[in-house]
Amino acid sequence: MSLDTDYDNDNIFAKIIRGDMNCVKLYETDDILAFMDVFPQSEGHCLVIHKHAKATSLFDISPDDLSALAQAVQKVAKAVKEALAPDGVRIAQFNGAPAGQTVYHLHFHIIPVFEGKRLDDHARGGPAEAAALEPAAKKIRDKI
Ligand code: 5GP
Repeated sequence: MSLDTDYDNDNIFAKIIRGDMNCVKLYETDDILAFMDVFPQSEGHCLVIHKHAKATSLFDISPDDLSALAQAVQKVAKAVKEALAPDGVRIAQFNGAPAGQTVYHLHFHIIPVFEGKRLDDHARGGPAEAAALEPAAKKIRDKI
């Protein structure tokens, strides 16, 4: 996928926004959705998206929508920090397949990092069961 690819209304995150696919939700407003990454790189790995921006990448979103998204990223990242007490928190965002993007709906990763614990590979392995994601999700939700 190039950086100029058109937005696909049937991408996985669009389906999650419409409710056509399940996710483990953390936080939702009229504009924003935060949910657990189903292939987590660490305990508490979650994603934050804008629900209406229809942006494939960082280059397609309006400054106002990006501002709302960035504020939500900070809000959820603070909750992750309080809930899970990681040693570090990685915020990641990929644009285009060569940069590592695999889902073409703009999103930010929030990845807690724990000293001495290697991060799992990006978007690899089998999907986690909702039940396995729920304990960390509950802790995060309780801090939002
Ligand atoms: P990207 O590679 O585009 O930066 O990140 C996409 C992320 O979405 C990956 O970390 C991947 O694990 C996650 N992901 C892929 N499919 C699904 C899904 O169906 N549900 C959820 N919750 N996350 C997904």
